[in-house]
Amino acid sequence: MIAASRCAVALFAAATIAQQPAPPTCPPLPAGYDAALWSKAWALHHDALVVDTHVDTTTRILDRGFDVGPRANDGHFDLVRAHEGGLDAVFHSIYVDARFAGDEAALFAKAPSDINADWLRPADAGAANGSARRALMMIDGIVQQAQRHPTRMTMCATADELVAAVQAGKHAALMGIEGGHAIEGDLGLLRLFHQLGVRYMTLTHTNHNEYADSCAPAEPRWGGLNRLGVKVVAEMNRLGMVVDVSHVSDATFFDALAATQAPVICSHSSLRALCAHPRNVTDDMLRAIAKNGGAVMINFNCGFIDADYAKNRSGRQATRRIQEKAARDKFADGSAELRAALAALDARFPPVEPPPLATLVTHVLRALEVAGADHVGLGSDFDGVPCVPRGMDDAAQLPRLTYELLAAGQSETTVRKVLGGNLLRVLRAVEAHAASRRGEKPQQNGSDDGDRLPR
Ligand SMILES: [Zn+2]
Repeated sequence: MIAASRCAVALFAAATIAQQPAPPTCPPLPAGYDAALWSKAWALHHDALVVDTHVDTTTRILDRGFDVGPRANDGHFDLVRAHEGGLDAVFHSIYVDARFAGDEAALFAKAPSDINADWLRPADAGAANGSARRALMMIDGIVQQAQRHPTRMTMCATADELVAAVQAGKHAALMGIEGGHAIEGDLGLLRLFHQLGVRYMTLTHTNHNEYADSCAPAEPRWGGLNRLGVKVVAEMNRLGMVVDVSHVSDATFFDALAATQAPVICSHSSLRALCAHPRNVTDDMLRAIAKNGGAVMINFNCGFIDADYAKNRSGRQATRRIQEKAARDKFADGSAELRAALAALDARFPPVEPPPLATLVTHVLRALEVAGADHVGLGSDFDGVPCVPRGMDDAAQLPRLTYELLAAGQSETTVRKVLGGNLLRVLRAVEAHAASRRGEKPQQNGSDDGDRLPR
């Protein structure tokens, strides 16, 4: 157990920033941790501004009626565990699954030469694009939570509001759209989402959309951004909405970096040099973001930080799926034989063990090395990923990351930047850029929107 005197130091530090609710109590010393360093890390962590740029609890809120107020015994985030983990501010994901793109997705399934012809056919006109509506419902979901817990949580749309909320001891809730198809190719909808408080947008999710390519499909659609994509970036700059290049294709990434006049972020991406996944950033991308003045927020997802985990999991899942299908074809639904066969498969394919916290820390350390201390942050993807590292089971465990960074020799200054300082700096820079352009004419949709950029 940690010494009582050391707890007192940490509690005092926490009390200076949070009037309500009561400061979190000093947790037991994690196994293998040095008591003095843990005490220092815990105090630093609870004193520092801690911001997570990507949490997906909104999907639970909207689809399952989840309430962030009480401590939940599953998932990664609620207000109790955020408070314990010193997590001050979160960009809640206004996540629009690719399936909501409806009409567009149907058109993508056809050969490019068919697209223009089909576009005019009334048969396709009835297929609704539910993307913007889904985004609006997500916004309603998180705003309702803030209204339900007014003493513990508040919606914020600026850096100043974020800081004020944290000083008042409240959870600062911000919003970022995940999936650029949410604006349905309409710059007016982009402006309206900004008006509602959305402060970043990933240009794509796993689907190509009206203006940008995603990293997920094998074949590109535009080869990066098209003309509308450049306008989207310009309009986000003008409005003061952070351009988020997580999820985009490499070509879209560099097109967006070339187009933007303000710092960008990767709200939740890890490092490709350590785990070769197209969702992760290369060292060149890290350097480009550093040059741009932006930041890469490291994703905690096991599949993005540990190549072996990703390979083992997908390999086992694929094999299991085949064998499960064979069992379901062979035995009747609900039969004892099917139950026994599925139980045998569970025994033969146990869940793949998550990587240790050290694997995640390696990504942060390498990002610091390549991009520099001013360009790295945290974007956990809590409640959006099936697996997080051992020892980082939920938001309450975040002080361990501070411990690990100090243990790895990082300075207190660097740790504060990673925890939230860098995000705050980027947000202020994007706000200042927008302020400098006040009165400028908004971007408009036009007939050349679908043109590819010259290469
Ligand atoms: Zn994502």
